Amino acid sequence: MQEWFEHEDSEEELGQILGNIESPVARLLEKALGPEDLSENDGLVLAQVKGEELHALLLAADVLRKRAVGDTITYVITRNINFTNVCIIGCKFCAFMTGPKSPDAWNHSLQDIGNKTREAWERGGTEVCVQGGLPRDLKPYYYRDILRAIREAVPQIHIHAFSPMEIIYGIEKTGMDLRDYLKMLREAGLDSIPGTAAEILDPQIRQVLSKNKVTVEQWMKVIRTAHELGIPTTSTIMYGHIEKPEHWVRHILLLRSIQQETGGFTEFVPLGFIHHNTDLYRSGLARPGATLEEHLKIHALSRILLKGWIDHVQVAWVKMGRTVSQWCLRGGADDFGGTLMEESISRLAGSEEGQNMDPEEFQDLIWQIGRTPAQRSTTYEILKRFPAPSASRSASVDVQ
Ligand code: SF4
Repeated sequence: MQEWFEHEDSEEELGQILGNIESPVARLLEKALGPEDLSENDGLVLAQVKGEELHALLLAADVLRKRAVGDTITYVITRNINFTNVCIIGCKFCAFMTGPKSPDAWNHSLQDIGNKTREAWERGGTEVCVQGGLPRDLKPYYYRDILRAIREAVPQIHIHAFSPMEIIYGIEKTGMDLRDYLKMLREAGLDSIPGTAAEILDPQIRQVLSKNKVTVEQWMKVIRTAHELGIPTTSTIMYGHIEKPEHWVRHILLLRSIQQETGGFTEFVPLGFIHHNTDLYRSGLARPGATLEEHLKIHALSRILLKGWIDHVQVAWVKMGRTVSQWCLRGGADDFGGTLMEESISRLAGSEEGQNMDPEEFQDLIWQIGRTPAQRSTTYEILKRFPAPSASRSASVDVQ
């Protein structure tokens, strides 16, 4: 793999490797570089590659990344606001939730949420990302009230809020119709929705991860309805636990089919499972997160399977770390995610990557891999580009 980390020109190097490997993989990668969509069977073959074939997969994904979005790597200045960690759902992979009487429980008031939004805006933030646990006694219209508090604090900030799980909970609490509920949230300030709570969109896997979580049908219904109303969403997968490569392929192709209908996904974000403090791992059900090979493979595979449909593949730096994120950005991904400013979900599960990455650090990490950093909006408008100030700042990544 060492040669891959040091490659200069993916297209030229891929041409040489494809000439060397006589296998169905070479034919599939040639198909991937053409206009045709890859099938489930094609994806299953590519999800199993190793050694030189994996090297070729990463190069092909990098070629497709360059064709789709060029050499710019984007990031967004955002603040996470996890307004409560009290939750009744009980997902086995979650180390964030707690009970209402726990000494570790927190519930930010509307005033706190407004203050955090103002602080984010003063630090150059263009977005707040708002998600939380699901407390039993949540007031029926609390999600709407959060949006109003944020809008009042900073009218211009983009509000990216509430997973499909929270939307379904809001409907249960208010008794409203899904479409009317989303319209109400949009009127209160909602701009886009995180496509989290997807984990793996497979009923059997979801039974093990969390029996109480939204079903595959509910998740798809919230997402489709949001897209129909013109509310964009992200799309995600959680990998590195009990799933197998075939689940990745089916999950990504399901997202592709939704995108073909609605065009409402802004990006795809693979989220590596952080295992340390979770019941899922402690009870022996899950493996201890993804391997390096799996991190690289899922980013490359998603670039290839989503070609022409979802242009942006984001790395979750808080889960994989900065260096592995840089490698994935050389193998198909093109977006570094957000500054976060504060982060609780991965930290409580055992991540040691910290809660904040300043824009200057994003810029340095991106220059190190020879790409051009750019600050973006939530919906991928480029707000500012940062060409490398000098050759010395564009040193290559230390792969050791
Ligand atoms: S993942 Fe979300 S819904 Fe599941 S237990 Fe954690 S906070 Fe609750």
